[in-house]
Amino acid sequence: MADIQFKRILVTGGAGFLGSHLCTRLVGEGHDVICVDNLFTGQKSNVAHLMDKDNFEFIRHDIREPLQLEGLDQIYNLACPAAPGHYQWDPIGTMKTCILGAINMLDLAKYNGATILQASTSECYGDPLVHPQTEDYRGNVSCTGPRACYDEGKRAAETLFFDHNRMHGTKIRIVRIFNTYGPNLHPYDGRVVSNFIRQALAGEDITIYGDGQQTRSFQYVDDLIEAMIRMVNNEDDFTGPVNTGNPHEFTIRELADIVIRLTNSESKIVHMPAPVDDPVMRRPDITLAKEKLGGWEPTIQLEEGLVKTIEYFANLDLTKWRPPTK
Ligand code: NAD
Ligand code: UDP
Repeated sequence: MADIQFKRILVTGGAGFLGSHLCTRLVGEGHDVICVDNLFTGQKSNVAHLMDKDNFEFIRHDIREPLQLEGLDQIYNLACPAAPGHYQWDPIGTMKTCILGAINMLDLAKYNGATILQASTSECYGDPLVHPQTEDYRGNVSCTGPRACYDEGKRAAETLFFDHNRMHGTKIRIVRIFNTYGPNLHPYDGRVVSNFIRQALAGEDITIYGDGQQTRSFQYVDDLIEAMIRMVNNEDDFTGPVNTGNPHEFTIRELADIVIRLTNSESKIVHMPAPVDDPVMRRPDITLAKEKLGGWEPTIQLEEGLVKTIEYFANLDLTKWRPPTK
């Protein structure tokens, strides 16, 4: 007889970086997991080890289109390109994924009576004027710049989540994720951790955009997955939004130096122009997460997480990787 603790869970974006870790964890716990992905930036290889499991199913589908599934207990809505180079490649498509995708998945959650988690983002705070960022800070976001398709799309998705909750009683959860890294990052996604590690391992120049004094706070993927699972399963009906990130803040120059040291690389640092609207600083205040998610806090600090990520990149056959296609 099936254990009643086992749930039927949909993970959208499940073949991507974060989604693949989430699917692996949920399948390992015995849940029945359906991974939906259009493979825009995700890879089947990220979930290849799950394909022959009885409690895992992959469906190639674009969440901008409605989806009909029965018997779902939980939905994790992660489908959306997340790296600036990826989400800016088809900005209208990105906004549609954020908004139409949210509507379609919320309707599916309502139909099933499922709890739905939205993978929101620290980009909701834009180029923040409050530091560190607390959830009640409303942000400093450009609605016309090149990052807006993602930032405003994710903000609109949060609005849709709360409106669905108010209109239909849909059970919602929102996590605002700060920069997260680890194995399964797309090696050519252009994000800082993937770029620096790939460049350092190849002995290529390390490309710092701007003066390198801008800051980010890097969270290892396992810590995020733990927070998301605690969030979906919290029994207080705590909707969030709640920040999840590692509050240790580093300049991009410091990150470059650490990656060079950990890889014993002879790469040189070069400076390139800073991207438009590049946030100057970013650090989560995680007081709320600690309080609401059973004392949750990050357990893996930057050097330990980078070592695991470097090992993953060192074993990749980069000739098999292509930029995403529409
Ligand atoms: P990713 O690009 O590796 O994964 C996104 C996945 O969604 C990919 O597998 C992609 O193919 C899929 N996808 C994209 N558009 C889709 C669509 N229309 N229909 C179906 N599938 C689609 O990125 P990630 O880092 O794993 O991010 C996952 C989620 O977490 C995203 O929603 C992102 O906004 C959010 N997030 C990530 C971070 C981070 O630091 N990694 C930070 C904040 C928020
Ligand atoms: N960055 C950099 N060199 C790179 C890639 C990124 O200096 O090769 C910088 C980027 O300008 C930003 C920071 O690193 O200030 C984080 O960039 P990423 O794209 O990883 O994430 P996001 O800007 O979305 O936080």
